[in-house]
Amino acid sequence: MKVLVTGGAGYIGSHTVLSLLENNYDVIVYDNLVNSSIESIDRVEKLAGKKVEFIEGDICDKEKLSKVFEQFTIDAVIHFAALKAVGESAQIPLSYYQNNVYGTVCLLEVMQQHKVHNFIFSSSATVYGEENDVPYVETMKLGTPSSPYGASKVMVERVLGDLAQSNSNFRGVSLRYFNPIGAHESGQIGEDPKGIPNNLLPYVAQVAVGKREKLGIFGDDYPTKDGSCERDYLHVMDLAQGHVAALDWLNRHSEFSGVEAFNLGTGNGVSVFAIVKAFEKAIDKKIPFEVSPRRTGDLPAFWADANKANKALNWQAKRSVEQMMADTWRWQSTNPNGYLV
Ligand code: NAD
Ligand code: UDP
Repeated sequence: MKVLVTGGAGYIGSHTVLSLLENNYDVIVYDNLVNSSIESIDRVEKLAGKKVEFIEGDICDKEKLSKVFEQFTIDAVIHFAALKAVGESAQIPLSYYQNNVYGTVCLLEVMQQHKVHNFIFSSSATVYGEENDVPYVETMKLGTPSSPYGASKVMVERVLGDLAQSNSNFRGVSLRYFNPIGAHESGQIGEDPKGIPNNLLPYVAQVAVGKREKLGIFGDDYPTKDGSCERDYLHVMDLAQGHVAALDWLNRHSEFSGVEAFNLGTGNGVSVFAIVKAFEKAIDKKIPFEVSPRRTGDLPAFWADANKANKALNWQAKRSVEQMMADTWRWQSTNPNGYLV
């Protein structure tokens, strides 16, 4: 089976490409490298001992995309390509709607033209918005996220729903990721943010390696056990395997048409303080931090009800917080400058 992976050079994409190759899928990566490096693909090829077809291109470029579908017989598309910085999305919302919404529409149009109907979308826990109670369950209504980034994910989920209504051949899966962290256990691939990291783990890892002075913990007065926010952190390799499980599910359910959402998380909330402690334990060193003001838009706590994915996809997040920390550190300490070699 041939799978087109948009955004496959990025953090989650590269780990998923490795899992796909290990499960005997052929992979074509389509990525404009706006937030990634081709080096990730080279390393994935070495780890898998297999080749990946790489095409540099933008998902908004329908002509180029069309050529890819003409050149290869594609069975399914896994769509990671998007901009993902929550804060930045409030500064340049139009770029987010252009890339994440219009880009997805372009991709879906080209897929329709070439009669490719299997589609897996990188959605996010952010689609539950501010109004739903935790844990989040797929039966809940889509919410109202506070950022343009979150709104772009809700919009795409709506687009997929409408497309499925209009086209009985469409077979879509929305995977709602919680907080992916960690790296492949080899330490060869991992998360390589450009500039100052927005997310917790890359920031902690850069403090540990001496690139940043100290971590700011955004608020210790939330209504949680220790006052800091709680999130459902899952290992990126578990998440990668969730995509393989979703593809297998589509293959097993040849009668399925429509669009189905699955939460991918562990089902547990872990606080910022607990993450810092776990990282300190993994590296046997203190992480300097200070408590700073709350970050606008942060919710106190959310985690997944992952029962649907556990049962239907036969998938479970298996790796522990300890392993997430150890693997993050292996990647960060052996690649202090990420893919810049
Ligand atoms: P990433 O930035 O590492 O990967 C995204 C990839 O898409 C990059 O390689 C980038 O170069 C590429 N890309 C961006 N715009 C493109 C365009 N217009 N055309 C072609 N390629 C383009 O991000 P990631 O963390 O791997 O996230 C992958 C997906 O998962 C995104 O859709 C993101 O919104 C979603 N997601 C991520 C998280 C997270 O915490 N990392 C959580 C929930 C959902
Ligand atoms: N966080 C923090 N300091 C940082 C980055 C993040 O305290 O430098 C906190 C943030 O407030 C949130 C949690 O860590 O409660 C996870 O944030 P991240 O941006 O990684 O993911 P989010 O859940 O916001 O998508």
